[in-house]
Amino acid sequence: MSARFKLAILGGGQLARMLALAAAPLGVRTKCYDPSPNACAGDVCSLTVGTWDDADAIRSFADDADAVTYEFESVRLSAAEAAASVAPLRPGIEPLRVSQERLLEKQFFTACEIPTPAYAPIDSRDDAARALEAVGAQAVIKTRRDGYDGKGQRVVASKDDAVAAWDELGRVPMIAEAFVEFRRELSVVAVRSEAGDVRTWPLCENTHEAGMLRRTVAPATATGEQHRLALSFAQRLLSKLEYGGVLTLELFETASGDLLANEFAPRVHNSGHWTIEAAKTSQFANHVRAVLGMPLGSCDMMMPGARAEMVNVIGDAVPAADLLADGWSVHDYTKEPRPGRKVGHATRLVIGG
Ligand code: AMP
Repeated sequence: MSARFKLAILGGGQLARMLALAAAPLGVRTKCYDPSPNACAGDVCSLTVGTWDDADAIRSFADDADAVTYEFESVRLSAAEAAASVAPLRPGIEPLRVSQERLLEKQFFTACEIPTPAYAPIDSRDDAARALEAVGAQAVIKTRRDGYDGKGQRVVASKDDAVAAWDELGRVPMIAEAFVEFRRELSVVAVRSEAGDVRTWPLCENTHEAGMLRRTVAPATATGEQHRLALSFAQRLLSKLEYGGVLTLELFETASGDLLANEFAPRVHNSGHWTIEAAKTSQFANHVRAVLGMPLGSCDMMMPGARAEMVNVIGDAVPAADLLADGWSVHDYTKEPRPGRKVGHATRLVIGG
C-alpha cells in the first residue's frame, strides 16, 4: 500500500485513535504525539512520546507530515506553533486561542451574532462582588482557562458566594455567566473543507452527569427553526474562523426553546461518536478528509428515519459482553479504568423509536 498522505496528530487519546482508524481506509497513514507511552492511539498508529514543551521534538515529529491536527483544545500554543512551522496545521492556531479562553470565546460568539448567556469578565474581587448585578440573580463563575467537564466553576446566588468563588477558584481571570435553567443540552457537529464547503450532522441531544457526557441521541427531536438556527450558528463560526476540519458547538435550549451557545470545541467530539455507525460519513473520516484537502462526504444518517443512541463507558471496564449481546457497537479504548475516566463508548441504531 502506498502512503498517499500522512497525518500527524497532536495527542494520542481516544479521539486520535478513532481518527487513525477512520484514516486507514482512505489510504492515510497517521501518527500521534503524546507524553504517555501508554497513549491508546498508539495501538493503531505510530506513537511518538514527547513533552509539550519540547518544540524540537514536535517539529521533527510533524516535519514529514502533509498536515498536522490536534485532538484536544488545550494543546499549548507553543506546541501548536512548533508543529505549524513545519507543516500545515489544521484547523489552525486561532481556533485554539479562542476556545482556550472563555471570555474570548464568548466575545467571539457575540461577534458572530450567536446568542449566549449574559456574561461579564471578572478580574478582581470587586468584579466578583458585582457579578450578579452584571448577569442576573444566579450565575456560574468559571475560570477563563483550563476548565473542562465542569471543573473550575461554581454556581453562585449571592454577593458573598461570588466573592467566595473568586477566592476558591484561585483569584485568576474568570467569567461570570447567567445561570441558564436549560431544558436540555444540544450540540451540532460540523465540518468545513479548506475550500469552504460546510456540512453538519443532525443535531445531537446530550445528557451529562457530574459534568461529563453520558449519553447522546441523534437526530435530536427539535423544531425546524431550532435545526436551522443551530446549523447557521455553526456555519457562521466555521466561516469566521476560516476553518478546516470538524468543530463542535455546544448549546443550551432554554425553557422558551431558544438556543444559547455555551462553548465550542475545535475538534471531533464525544457527542459525534455515533456518526461512526449511523452517518454516511463519520466525524472522524470527514475531519481527515477536510484537513488533507479531500472532498467531504455526506453527513446524512445512514438510514433515514433511524435514531442513534451513544452511551459512554466511564470508570469501569467496558461491559462489552452485555452491550454486544444487546446489539450495541462497542468501542473499547483499551485505557486503564479509573473513576471518572472515559474508557469506551457504545452506539446503537433505534429504528422507529
Ligand atoms: P462547561 O465546562 O462550560 O461546558 O460547563 C459544564 C457544564 O456545566 C455544562 O455542560 C452545563 O451542564 C453546566 N453549565 C455551564 N454553564 C452553565 C450556565 N451558564 N448555566 C447553567 N449551567 C451551565
